[in-house]
Amino acid sequence: MSRVAVVGAAGRMGERIRHWTEAHPDLELAAALEAPGHPQLGMEIAPGVVLESNPKAAFAGVDVAIDFTTPSATLASLAAAADAGVPYVTGTTGFSPAESAEIAQFARGIGVIHAPNFSLAVNVLGWLAREAARKLGAGFDAEIFEIHHSAKRDAPSGTALFLAEAVAQGQGEALSQRLVVSRAGEIGARPENAIGIQTLRGGDNPGEHSLYFVGAGERVELCHRSATRDHFAQGAVRAAAWLIGRSAGLYSIEEVYGLK
Ligand code: NAD
Repeated sequence: MSRVAVVGAAGRMGERIRHWTEAHPDLELAAALEAPGHPQLGMEIAPGVVLESNPKAAFAGVDVAIDFTTPSATLASLAAAADAGVPYVTGTTGFSPAESAEIAQFARGIGVIHAPNFSLAVNVLGWLAREAARKLGAGFDAEIFEIHHSAKRDAPSGTALFLAEAVAQGQGEALSQRLVVSRAGEIGARPENAIGIQTLRGGDNPGEHSLYFVGAGERVELCHRSATRDHFAQGAVRAAAWLIGRSAGLYSIEEVYGLK
């Protein structure tokens, strides 16, 4: 059995990651990490596994870490994993471009998978988005709408940005100058090649994304709706099992699913 450390173990995703780690035939939960000061620190959250906050101690003797936390927590525990030579899977979203570059730097020493969405279906949706953008061409305006629960910290969602990037790739033009994430006031006509993202926050929604290609007199809609977090957690656990034993480098979830 390979030994797994879960970072953010008491969080919404962390709880499901622990469940699916225990359900995996080749993996066992060996360590569980939470933020310093977390009220459950010191509790035995699984047989023989006490919730702790020191990544250096927790990573001794584990084979892989899975992390769903916040950008600053991810970078700190990724540094500890790199020191300990522990491969690292993270689904945390909301990184700045400079922070994403830091993740790539750590991947020079250990295997890392960083994905904004671990669901197989969402990654297939990314492929569909790229192909649809390529085939529909310039006559269709691409717009994305995302809904998440009210506690989500970052906007737009990492998955919405992933879909926008897929559209840009399909159209053969870089995303950076074309992304429109807020509209209010006298905004003028829509720039021809804009890719828009609209965000809604509320309730307990685990995540919903709609991609619209809006043409003259017709519209294509591609949509993914999550009813639970289990498909994200199962994907991350599958990615962790896949990563163990691989050489250092930054791998994608598309490689894990054989979509690349
Ligand atoms: P959450 O707030 O429920 O859980 C995050 C947990 O991390 C909390 O329990 C928090 O105490 C803990 N934490 C904070 N700092 C820490 C530290 N220094 N060390 C250890 N633990 C620490 O949030 P969530 O809904 O589970 O989402 C977490 C992240 O995962 C977000 O960025 C979210 O966008 C992302 N997410 C990604 C996917 C995906 O498939 N990639 C799916 C769902 C959510």
